[in-house]
Amino acid sequence: MSAGDRGVQAFIGIGANLGDPEAQVRESFARLAKGLPKTRLTGRSRMFRNPPMGPQDQPDYVNAVARLYTRLEPLELLVELQGIECACGRERDGTRWGPRRLDLDLLLFGDQSLDLPGLQVPHAGIADRDFVILPLLELAPGLQIPGMGPLELLAQRFEGANLIPVAEPEASVTAAEGHG
Ligand code: ADP
Ligand code: MG
Repeated sequence: MSAGDRGVQAFIGIGANLGDPEAQVRESFARLAKGLPKTRLTGRSRMFRNPPMGPQDQPDYVNAVARLYTRLEPLELLVELQGIECACGRERDGTRWGPRRLDLDLLLFGDQSLDLPGLQVPHAGIADRDFVILPLLELAPGLQIPGMGPLELLAQRFEGANLIPVAEPEASVTAAEGHG
């Protein structure tokens, strides 16, 4: 398979703060891995717990970033992401930055800059969010962000930022099953 056949590298920002946020983030990784046509999940960041942006009278968020290769068009991918949001029980009430069971944002689509009705890529908030930039850095050091330059440069302003990783149950299972 040539590099072209695997499609375009895309990154998805995942966030949830209602219901069981960790479970919904895990579920969305599973759906990104198995539920999308012409698409392969090739990386997942750790999950991090973060205070809400905007209205503060809502629970903390769990955030993560996924890396894909896809042969879908950008708008096709967005529709698939919205399908996963709905399948995970998201109800849109129109509140910007309001609480949600699951939010999937198309952060980056290859080296493309898009300004379409309903789709802006790179995602508008990307440079301002430590919970996007730092997980991206875990997944793709050296990445160039279209129109913004090197990821490492964007990450500089978050130096010393302390994202709190969610404890992974896999790790505790491994420990429990470990020797002794
Ligand atoms: P937000 O994520 O800003 O809190 P929503 O998830 O409800 O809000 O998204 C609002 C709209 O943002 C969607 O209807 C979608 O069409 C639009 N949108 C624009 N660019 C993007 C993008 N890169 N990824 C996801 N949605 C986007
Ligand atoms: Mg969104």
